[in-house]
Amino acid sequence: MTTWIKAPLAILADGAGGGVVIEGATIAELVPAGGTPRTAIDEVFDAAAHVVLPGLINTHHHFYQTLTRALPAALDKELFPWLGALYPVWNRLTPDAVRAAVSVAMAELLLSGCTTTSDHHYVFPRGGGSAIDIAVEEARALGIRAVLTRGSMDLSEKDGGLPPDDIVEDADTILADSERLVAAYHEHGPGAMVQIALAPCTAFTATRELMRDSAEMARRLGVRLHTHLAETEDENDYCVAKFGCRPLDYLEQLGWLADDVWLAHGIHFTADERRRLGRAGTGICHCPSSNMILASGFCAVPDLEAEGCPVGLGVDGSASNNSSNMIQEVRQALLLQRVARRDATISHKDALRWATRGSAACLGRTDIGEIAVGMQADFALFRLDELRFSGHGDPLAVLILAGGHAADRVMVAGQWRVVDGAIPGLDLDRLRADHQRESLALAAAVPA
Ligand code: ZN
Repeated sequence: MTTWIKAPLAILADGAGGGVVIEGATIAELVPAGGTPRTAIDEVFDAAAHVVLPGLINTHHHFYQTLTRALPAALDKELFPWLGALYPVWNRLTPDAVRAAVSVAMAELLLSGCTTTSDHHYVFPRGGGSAIDIAVEEARALGIRAVLTRGSMDLSEKDGGLPPDDIVEDADTILADSERLVAAYHEHGPGAMVQIALAPCTAFTATRELMRDSAEMARRLGVRLHTHLAETEDENDYCVAKFGCRPLDYLEQLGWLADDVWLAHGIHFTADERRRLGRAGTGICHCPSSNMILASGFCAVPDLEAEGCPVGLGVDGSASNNSSNMIQEVRQALLLQRVARRDATISHKDALRWATRGSAACLGRTDIGEIAVGMQADFALFRLDELRFSGHGDPLAVLILAGGHAADRVMVAGQWRVVDGAIPGLDLDRLRADHQRESLALAAAVPA
């Protein structure tokens, strides 16, 4: 089966003005402007009204947090007090709540042009079911690629950590479940639709032993490692007080300064730390909306890239962002980096690179993130016939600068997963009603 996405209005690829030919799950041919494919074509999709991007790749999220958007108790707080307000709510998660949450997050992502998403699930209340197994089922049902990280917390208040004692797990349970999930679901090699990575939550919620043992297991099983790092000054202060060193030194001691690791946020690094990260090839996921909402600061993206770090984009969890819209996050990244650097030459193409090739590199993927022959056929197509785009000169630039927010078509591995701005077969009204009900029940379950 071959499909020609024909003669797009604009496309983020060189030498593909005439579109792309897809054969099965991969890109078979780039067609030059004005040309026709050499391949025999079964189906033609006329993209004359569309801007075509490589599918966007989200490298940090907490799907379950869609249930706690704008929770009054957590509004207008920085990270540590914000977490303190949310832990007791998250500790009431049920399997039905998790299912609604992951479906909402993945649907939001797909509808915003995202074709691959990571998730970091680290709250496993007793009776809460197996959240990652649920996420695998829902990802397969929606057809989105997923890199699901088995998050973990084993360091609670009684041992000097931040979370309450009843929300953490013991390390043996965490490691056994991590190994089970990798064996059950992780696909190696090009075209993988579901992958697992290991992800102790933070230096202030996971023990030194769990960080070290997770790294050892990830390398033994051939999967990647992920955690939050350098998000706030509070985290720096915590590490200096508890470990006598800064967060990156701590990570290095535990074998985490390496090219199979990607870190969420990466804000509070020194120039020397950025050099060490670049030398190691460690990936950084920039989460602009979350960093702005929690007033955490901003990631020095151009400096990290100059040192050699892959830099990707993430929407982060919906308790901070509060939405899961990848194309909007591209605009946020562009605007935040411009103002933070006072540098108007940072362009929409830079921000799109972070959301595509940079994100793919963070996830250790060489088969996605770019429109080129042999790559996976993952695309996001946007129309520009909304009022906000009317009068534009450059179609690709206006998509980002005027606030593109909804894809018209999304293809993952050669399959259309969004058609005419909707996910075929998904009853969004029903999903929204279920999700809102679960969200209210969760908030109501918390003792005042
Ligand atoms: Zn996060």
